Amino acid sequence: MLKDSFGRSFPYIRLSITDVCNFKCGYCLPNGYQKNKSDNRKFLDINEIRRLAKGLSELGVCKIRLTGGEPTVRRDFFDIVDILKKQSGIKKTVITTNGYRLDKIAKQIAESGLDGINISIDSLDKKNFEKITGHDRLAEILKGIENLQKLNFKNIKINAVLLKGVNSSNKDFEAWANFIKTNEIDFRYIELMQTGENLEYFKKYHISSKILTNYLNENKWIIQTLGKDAGPAKNYINPLYKGKFGLIAPYSKNFCKTCNRLRITARGDLRLCLFGNTGISIRHLIQRDNQLEELKELISKQLNFKKESHYLELGNTGLTNNLSTTGG
Ligand code: SAM
Ligand code: SF4
Repeated sequence: MLKDSFGRSFPYIRLSITDVCNFKCGYCLPNGYQKNKSDNRKFLDINEIRRLAKGLSELGVCKIRLTGGEPTVRRDFFDIVDILKKQSGIKKTVITTNGYRLDKIAKQIAESGLDGINISIDSLDKKNFEKITGHDRLAEILKGIENLQKLNFKNIKINAVLLKGVNSSNKDFEAWANFIKTNEIDFRYIELMQTGENLEYFKKYHISSKILTNYLNENKWIIQTLGKDAGPAKNYINPLYKGKFGLIAPYSKNFCKTCNRLRITARGDLRLCLFGNTGISIRHLIQRDNQLEELKELISKQLNFKKESHYLELGNTGLTNNLSTTGG
């Protein structure tokens, strides 16, 4: 099992498979995806991904989250899922997606063997959704969720970034509570994070997640404990609701103490933290099948450089210009 010098272990990898995204979320890519002219390396190809995943599974990684950019824009997206499911030894493969075209690809998703899907929906209000993401596509995303449920696909989660004055009122919280009353779905708010590019947006829209915990406490939601490959969310349950309410609060005290995940960018850089200046390319060691031992050794050694905390509260955004390169 991969371990760092603070005793944390890492069964969970977030692997970005593309920086490209078709949405324009105000906190992430407000002007849409722009090609990085200073880095013309191609995104990892399917064989590089296969070797990487095999090495990771031998290091004790049991869960990979495919993310981006928007992972489903890759033409070989379902081939990648297939290879991870059948040839890597990784037990759980899940994705984070903005859900565009979900109505059309729900069947393929259900049949792909994916073990879970996180869909980003910042608001249940059509106009508000469009304002935040730059796209009027809420209906197709919700239809896609319905289709997945009809196909009995389990482990659907929804994420929304908490934005002051945009989706942070009791009315917004009630809309989500109503949604999960009858839907067996985990809904989580993520506290807005500052990145290298979004300082003005952050100043305008960041609000502490305390506003949500207050709402949850007042409405008798009860906090739950976490599993070993669990994500960073704190989940709350209520016997009257089928789904769970959750909260990802990266600015909260002790957030990094339970860190169990590493990130790999779409160009094959290992990132020890979402925010940090440490990260090296591991791509040269996924070119041939016989490089597995070297790859494993390099990744294990790198973990000694993982820091105790992201120091985000000090405004330290490290290498992260926006989350589309590291997958959130
Ligand atoms: N495009 C996919 C999506 O939006 O789900 C996957 C990549 S996106 C970078 C992953 C997650 O990061 C999304 O849930 C998104 O809302 C979140 N995210 C992006 N920028 C963020 C920021 N500055 N603060 C908090 N969450 C952010
Ligand atoms: Fe695209 Fe996801 Fe970033 Fe929105 S959050 S711009 S959907 S990568």
